[in-house]
Amino acid sequence: MSDCLFCKIIDGSIPSTKVYEDDHVYAFTDISPVAKGHTLLIPKHHCKDLFEMPEDVARNLYAAAPKVANAIKAAFNPIGMNTINNNGEAAGQTVFHYHLHFIPRYDEKEGLALNWQTQNYTAEQLVEVAESIKAHL
Ligand code: AMP
Ligand code: ZN
Repeated sequence: MSDCLFCKIIDGSIPSTKVYEDDHVYAFTDISPVAKGHTLLIPKHHCKDLFEMPEDVARNLYAAAPKVANAIKAAFNPIGMNTINNNGEAAGQTVFHYHLHFIPRYDEKEGLALNWQTQNYTAEQLVEVAESIKAHL
């Protein structure tokens, strides 16, 4: 896509700090890292988000994910790592070419604040939710 920032990073017309590349994916350091080693993994095939990602693109992307995660782990020895993908503005997506964030954790409190506010669902409600999803698979 001609007006896509990450497509331009893939074709080299916008510079990036490359970490890894194969026929299907490209990985580079995030320009505004929230922790040392914060890396983005993107498919070379343009798709806006997970909803639009073809299965073979997903397969190739996730085939590279452990490689990237383990390289960051070996380089910086974090105590943990979050992999995060934002889909849609409401979910915090700002660049509309699918990307998977690798965010190493060095301290429970620094870098990335995740606030999980759990809700109470009965077993019956959980079944109802599962059935609603299953109806579309
Ligand atoms: P998201 O908010 O999930 O869409 O994440 C977009 C990410 O892309 C942010 O973490 C930005 O810091 C990062 N980003 C934006 N422009 C660039 C760039 N030119 N090179 C590397 N990372 C970028
Ligand atoms: Zn793109």
